[in-house]
Amino acid sequence: LPSIATVIGSGTMGPGIAATLARAGATVRLYDISEDAIARAEAAYGVVQGVLAAVDSPSAPGGSVSFGTDLDAALEGTELIIEAVPEKLELKQKVFADLEARIGDEVIIATNTSGIPITTMAESLRVPGRLIGMHWSNPPHLIPMIEIIPGQATDEALVGQLVDIVKAFNYVPVLEKEIPGFVENRVLYAILRECMALLEEGIVTPEGLDACVKWGIGYKLSVIGPTRLLDMAGLDIYQAVSSYLNKDLDVSTDTPQFIKDKIAEGKLGFKSNGGMYEYGEGDVDAKRKEIVTGLIAARKTLSSIP
Ligand code: NAD
Repeated sequence: LPSIATVIGSGTMGPGIAATLARAGATVRLYDISEDAIARAEAAYGVVQGVLAAVDSPSAPGGSVSFGTDLDAALEGTELIIEAVPEKLELKQKVFADLEARIGDEVIIATNTSGIPITTMAESLRVPGRLIGMHWSNPPHLIPMIEIIPGQATDEALVGQLVDIVKAFNYVPVLEKEIPGFVENRVLYAILRECMALLEEGIVTPEGLDACVKWGIGYKLSVIGPTRLLDMAGLDIYQAVSSYLNKDLDVSTDTPQFIKDKIAEGKLGFKSNGGMYEYGEGDVDAKRKEIVTGLIAARKTLSSIP
């Protein structure tokens, strides 16, 4: 684990990432251009620490997070920079240029991009070999899996180094080749595409769909994973079903019309008190609490089995 790490961007992802590294013993500096974002991050950090304690995540002595808008101070002595600014190529490239003007060639830059190709981003770097994809899953302090995506220019030694760093804070590294959406979102979006098609065709209600996927798929896959699931089911059974079912699955390439209609009506989900479901006074806060409580309980249980 690097003794000093810097997280650039303290929005949705930054505070949880910083807290996870700090809990493993690193001195972490969380930097943002916005004073408001830093103030929100300090509050978020308190909440995140409570969650990490509840989940019994291993706690090493000596870790800390400091917050600030002074980039030079944030980078002093740093070994690993994790970039988590908004998902815009030009912005990220500008941030990399600002960073490279201040750091030595040996400092690693890991980007939390959700899908901008690492190879494209690296083209603007003075030291392209130091850039690597490090895709945390939201909420980053609770989901103990990180996708590692080298670009074409990424130093080979850096790949192993980042794998070891991720293991050092007790997360599971998943090494991938560069592909749009990376593996996690490709699988999630394949599931979501079929789910939305089933809703659009009126095959099942939203409540029924959520119950079916939560228990029939989520519960099971959280314990065994899709590859082992095939062994458990039998590859011959998979062949028998996939030979007729695959042709019938949704293959649409655009966002479903009913989702576009909801967006046009201003129904965006939790942030507008209505989306797929409607939320009355206090419902969104209650749902958010329910989700965190559930994730904490599930993480504890799943961590206790091999
Ligand atoms: P966000 O918009 O919540 O936060 C980004 C922060 O970056 C803001 O606080 C903003 O003030 C700050 N920022 C903007 N310009 C900056 C600069 N030049 N220097 C320093 N800070 C700057 O974004 P987010 O949701 O935390 O996402 C960050 C990155 O992580 C994106 O690339 C996103 O695709 C990726 N990601 C997000 C999620 C998610 O669920 N939100 C999950 C995985 C990966």
